[in-house]
Amino acid sequence: MPTVKKGEVAVSQNDFGLLVDEFVRNELRPGRNIVAEWMDEHIRKWWPLIEKYYQQHIITAIEVAVALDAPPRYGRQELRNKKMWEKIVKELRPARSEFTVKYACSKCKRENIKLWRDSHTFANHIELECATCLAPDAKVDDAGMWEDPGEFGMRTSQLKGKVPAIPVDDSYWGYSSVPSQDIEWWQNLPTYPMEKK
Ligand SMILES: [Zn+2]
Repeated sequence: MPTVKKGEVAVSQNDFGLLVDEFVRNELRPGRNIVAEWMDEHIRKWWPLIEKYYQQHIITAIEVAVALDAPPRYGRQELRNKKMWEKIVKELRPARSEFTVKYACSKCKRENIKLWRDSHTFANHIELECATCLAPDAKVDDAGMWEDPGEFGMRTSQLKGKVPAIPVDDSYWGYSSVPSQDIEWWQNLPTYPMEKK
């Protein structure tokens, strides 16, 4: 058992996670101006000692702060050190979720391509479809977005009543609860097969 040295204190792992979570949230308030190198160095040192639960809290807090800082800001003070926060999220968040579902289009059988799924069906009945099979008339961009004429030309990732199929374990993330690393995985898949580009 390591002993506590002079100038050190011992806290429970749970308390430690709570303290770092509160500290990070405080530093995320608009106008705060923490030194990027200091934060970068310390959060990396702390990270392995923080429980998964608080790690997720911290990642989410940073992602929300960065998203809220997107213009228009309506006179609100900006989030300082945005690049630092974005880097911290990218480097400390967990790896993309593992999955066991067969990720292939049910029509053309293509793999390694963005797929969409029905939103209200049990996982074992879901028919995955690629953009080519699902909506041949739609122009879906590289990020999986298009302007849906049925929705007054609103840009959306929903396609002909289907939602992005982002797998986790033997199922799919709910439409509004996907972790950012898994959204990016889906966005980075090609939208159309290479030969059609
Ligand atoms: Zn297909």
